[in-house]
Amino acid sequence: MIASTPQSWFRDQVSEEVAELRHLDAALAVEQFGATSARVRDTFTVLLRERVRELQELREEDWAGLQRLREGGIRDVQHAALGVLEGGLLRGHPLFRDVTAAAERLLDTVVDTTGIDHGALLSMAGAERFERLVGLIRIRFPDVGVWGLPILVHEVGHLVADALPGPGDRNLRPVLDLLAQEAAVDRSTGGRDHDQAYRHAGELFADVFATYALGVAYPLAVITLRARPDRILDEPSPTHPTWSRRIWTMVASLRAIADRLESPLEAGAYRHDADRLLACYWSAVSGDEPPDGSMERAAARQAAAFVDQLDRNAPPRLRYDAAANHDALIGDLLTGRATTATPVEVIGAIWRWRVVHGGTDSVTLTRIGAQALRAVASVTG
Ligand SMILES: [Zn+2]
Repeated sequence: MIASTPQSWFRDQVSEEVAELRHLDAALAVEQFGATSARVRDTFTVLLRERVRELQELREEDWAGLQRLREGGIRDVQHAALGVLEGGLLRGHPLFRDVTAAAERLLDTVVDTTGIDHGALLSMAGAERFERLVGLIRIRFPDVGVWGLPILVHEVGHLVADALPGPGDRNLRPVLDLLAQEAAVDRSTGGRDHDQAYRHAGELFADVFATYALGVAYPLAVITLRARPDRILDEPSPTHPTWSRRIWTMVASLRAIADRLESPLEAGAYRHDADRLLACYWSAVSGDEPPDGSMERAAARQAAAFVDQLDRNAPPRLRYDAAANHDALIGDLLTGRATTATPVEVIGAIWRWRVVHGGTDSVTLTRIGAQALRAVASVTG
């Protein structure tokens, strides 16, 4: 006697999918998140419940529909849930606790200053990236130090492009409109297809965003840790512009911020960071000389357009204070004294210090890195 029939066979598989999604919902409910991340968790659970509803509404024997749901929405949401749970496990691991706490606090701080009502969930992957479905930002595994954290702020830039509204109208997405315009310009001048041109514009915006929020610390971190000498000027990849284009756009964005500042002191600090620090450092490590002609004009125009979007649509507190005096903070970190500096102040200070003191020995670098990580994570004792 066989109790199962073809009809219950279908329902068995649907029930299994539903049970798994409910289990993920319950698992996420017991995760501990930072302040803004907790809000994203709520949107995530709504998404999970939507998938459950879609499963329950399937007609009997609609195997094709079940397959479409599995491949369409369920797999993506399961993948994102796995990412969040992995992030939670690493958060509890003694050797990853500080870096995940620091990354989450930095993300929460930066997202809070953007004025968007959307946070980011943190997880890890082979490389930093932003996953749009639930707003998941992945830190590079096994990054355990403070130095790679600026690159997460680039990923926040992708989130901001998607979510930053226009003044007085929460439904407008001015950055996305600008990216479409930039892609059209790039397509007509560079001959790229629309998708690639749009992706490149998005990457350059994320670079300008991170430079706006962290100052010169972001490009210094990117150059030191990620740029490759064999890929400075070669053909752009399908996803990213060349390193040369990216770095000179960051230089141009520091200049564009300076041009818009009323305070001569702060404008001077931004110009110094652009011309004396970043441009010199990049040319010294890469041999890539400042561009002239059309690339220079394109980078300057585009950087100014992106900075203009941030000036107009984000709160002023998002912009990094380049004129801040971080000597006392560096002194605290070097001597191990407690500091009340914000994550952005710590990151901004240590990268400038590291590049300006280029010959610093590895013991000092390790010590200040460890102190800075604890300060960003707000771990005391
Ligand atoms: Zn990116």
